[in-house]
Amino acid sequence: MDCLFCKIINGEIPSNKVYEDEKVYAFHDISPAAPVHVLIIPKVHISSANALTEENAAVVGHIFVVAAKIAAQLGIAENGYRIVNNCGEDGGQTVPHLHFHLLGGRSLQWPPG
Ligand code: AMP
Ligand code: ZN
Repeated sequence: MDCLFCKIINGEIPSNKVYEDEKVYAFHDISPAAPVHVLIIPKVHISSANALTEENAAVVGHIFVVAAKIAAQLGIAENGYRIVNNCGEDGGQTVPHLHFHLLGGRSLQWPPG
């Protein structure tokens, strides 16, 4: 499939891996917006949060568990972090494969722009 993140999962495009299991893959964002900026993606291609259904959405819960593990591993669990999903054009989604940003390592502003 002609999808950037599917190509990262299958190794066609290199990435800096943080975590992998049978359901998800996590890697450092190429253009980090914070000292810690990891992307966590399902191995199955889901185009966006709009494409979630009762049948495929269990992976989202797993992604949050993995995010907490990665946060602990990278030393940001105690100070805190943010998990972000951008959906669609107004949401700022640029890659059409569902992904969650794990951001931390500094105090983050709210609300987002
Ligand atoms: P979004 O704007 O929510 O769709 O997020 C897409 C993210 O993917 C951005 O933060 C990009 O910096 C990141 N990104 C794009 N290409 C790559 C890549 N080859 N490796 C790692 N991160 C990437
Ligand atoms: Zn994909």
